[in-house]
Amino acid sequence: MRTPAAPDPARFRVLVVEDDDTIGRHLESGLLGNGYAPAWSRTGAGALAEAARSPYDVLLLDLGLPDMDGLDVARTLRARFPDLLIIILTARTDDIDVIAGLDAGADDYLVKPFSLTVLLARLRAHLRRRAIAAPPQEPIRLGDLVVDVTARRCTLHDHEVALRPKEFELLAVLARHTGEAVSRESLMAEVWDENWFGSTKTLDVTMAGLRRRLTDAVARPYRVPRITTLRGHGYRLEQG
Ligand code: CA
Repeated sequence: MRTPAAPDPARFRVLVVEDDDTIGRHLESGLLGNGYAPAWSRTGAGALAEAARSPYDVLLLDLGLPDMDGLDVARTLRARFPDLLIIILTARTDDIDVIAGLDAGADDYLVKPFSLTVLLARLRAHLRRRAIAAPPQEPIRLGDLVVDVTARRCTLHDHEVALRPKEFELLAVLARHTGEAVSRESLMAEVWDENWFGSTKTLDVTMAGLRRRLTDAVARPYRVPRITTLRGHGYRLEQG
């Protein structure tokens, strides 16, 4: 059997939560040097705010934090992000702490002091398993609209709708939450994912483009899915 290639680390955003300056700096530079995209928070509250602001793939979490118990950080983020890979970094060596960590939703743990090489090997193993476990995404169907995320294609009444990349991603997020209100903030975080400071004008412009392309894709009397604007909140995609 062929060993699958290690996933490209550049695709993975890692949030390091560690109040010890030496360890934090070591982890940050080690991850950067190995192609990951790390961010570093020194407090539990800072980590929760950062995770809410921007999506992460991996959480490296110290348990002894100055402002809160790392286990509470693990519990909170596990509840909010079921796919987040959580690895606990602990100086606590009691089995009971390890069990509590895993019960709080962590996927794995490393006992300090640990070597960067071992941490990177564990990361690769976890990420590789996840890549194998993740099934190809089924196309999302909403009436005669089909959004195929794997193929990055959108069709309406069997007509291909040519969408710009961000228009497609916006539609894909709305389609995954068909019939649900999706806030502007979560659309910004999911579609533009990088740091974003205040202005949501780009969302409005992309939304206008998406609506126009859907409407123009087919001639009447075909019905087009409706994207309803929810004032002061966001949008909702519904069958036309
Ligand atoms: Ca600590």
